[in-house]
Amino acid sequence: MSHFNYTYDTPVFKGTVDFPTGVFIGGKFQEGSSKSHIDVINPTNGKVITSVAEATREDVDTAVKVAHEAFETVWGLNAPGSKRAALLNNLANLMEKHKDELAAIEALDNGKTFSWAKAADLTLGIDTIKYYAGWADKIQGKVIETTNDKLAYTRHEPIGVVGQICAWNFPLMLMCWKIGPALACGNTIVFKPSEFTPLTALRMASLINEAGFPPGVVNILVGYGPTVGDAMSSHMDIEKLSFTGSTLVGRKIMERAAQTNLKDVTLELGGKSPNIIFNDADLDLAIDWSSHGIFWNHGQACCAGSRIFVQSGIYDEFLKKFTAKAASIKLGDPFAHDSYQGPQVSQQQYDRIMSYIDSGKSEGATVHLGGARHGEEGYWIEPTIFTDTKPNMKIVQEEIFGPVGVVIKFEDEDDVLKQANDTMYGLAAAVFTQDISRGLDVAHRLKAGTAWINCANQLHANIPFGGFKQSGIGRELGEYAIQHYTSVKAVHVNVGKVRI
Ligand code: NAD
Repeated sequence: MSHFNYTYDTPVFKGTVDFPTGVFIGGKFQEGSSKSHIDVINPTNGKVITSVAEATREDVDTAVKVAHEAFETVWGLNAPGSKRAALLNNLANLMEKHKDELAAIEALDNGKTFSWAKAADLTLGIDTIKYYAGWADKIQGKVIETTNDKLAYTRHEPIGVVGQICAWNFPLMLMCWKIGPALACGNTIVFKPSEFTPLTALRMASLINEAGFPPGVVNILVGYGPTVGDAMSSHMDIEKLSFTGSTLVGRKIMERAAQTNLKDVTLELGGKSPNIIFNDADLDLAIDWSSHGIFWNHGQACCAGSRIFVQSGIYDEFLKKFTAKAASIKLGDPFAHDSYQGPQVSQQQYDRIMSYIDSGKSEGATVHLGGARHGEEGYWIEPTIFTDTKPNMKIVQEEIFGPVGVVIKFEDEDDVLKQANDTMYGLAAAVFTQDISRGLDVAHRLKAGTAWINCANQLHANIPFGGFKQSGIGRELGEYAIQHYTSVKAVHVNVGKVRI
């Protein structure tokens, strides 16, 4: 059975990791029913790191049966909130103990830097599991007053077997966003990481066992979207599907849910977030956050501030300083102390971003910075800035999901709001101004699920995250995610012995 065994000897992490990488069903690792494997590629050089067991539709059926059995016997209404909380806390503590190891696995698999994986992905992932551990024994309904003859109340019951499908850009963190609330509410899980970045999810499988979760509560299948992902979204016994990925695939998932058992669907999808800088902004602060807004995680953030709107009074100075900041970004080995940007995740993603850069050029925009490959091997792309764009260009309208920003001049508030809201997406937005009234007014008028004032890309376990428009349905994180993992039952009791 497949195993990942790897020795790191890097400036930031030294040690050997060794864990099974089979299909994880019922607390055990096994070969997938097809006995085939998926290669995991190192994005810094395009070479194979390891191979993991590939799951199939048949494995989805088995995992759902096992998850259903666990729901009916050892989890769901059979596991009190205090027990669910204790196990989630165990898991968070184990993640804390293995924080460096998990960050190292993520950096190798995804290409993000070890230091950011540790500071952002692991920190928020662990916080999220702890946060939902706190919720596990506080999930409760209400008593609803009607008449003296009636007792009426609601129960917030677990849904059953939930399917969860993730993207590759924050593999472990997104997994925590999904399993945390689902487990706190008492659901059992069939989880599919992205086939591009399966390693941290498989390492989590062993930690989930070690934390003491009963077998079958969490099942992890690495497989492709059109097989395993499709089998999950169309499965008659998966009662809820939570998805993070592209709008295109989100649409397919909703279609499959509609064609089958009308399962509840939560979708966390793409974005093309506006980042608005007014004349009165603290310029240096705005530049630092704007750079982080688009270039953090190599531009592979759903909420990346990829459309940078700058008011005409400061446009030239902003562009000069912002360009200098972007040009100073250190691309390099994800395990070096001083790297900020690593490679894009895959050849496919590299090609996609380069084709957007080509389209920007052919549609007449100016490449103000970058626009080319970095290095000889792997999937590296220079931080890229476009200017002289038109509103209908592909690079202004579509999600590039790479280190590519467009800088656009605007005149006044109404002008920028019209442009900022002119997209099918509505995930996040940022506004920079020292006038708090204006900041709040603009934040309220932006059609986005998250609005940042004088900052960007800020995420917390207790603050909801999700999209307006075609950026998604539902919310993750915070109390808001809880409602997506419970079914509300109303109970009417005739206490007055009333007859019809
Ligand atoms: P993707 O949609 O290609 O894939 C996401 C997942 O869906 C993968 O696990 C994939 O195997 C699976 N999948 C593919 N086809 C499927 C199908 N037909 N049925 C079921 N599952 C299928 O997205 P990606 O390239 O992995 O990730 C990038 C996208 O994710 C971007 O659009 C980004 O904005 C989005 N994203 C959104 C959020 C958010 O919280 N809103 C967070 C991270 C990423």
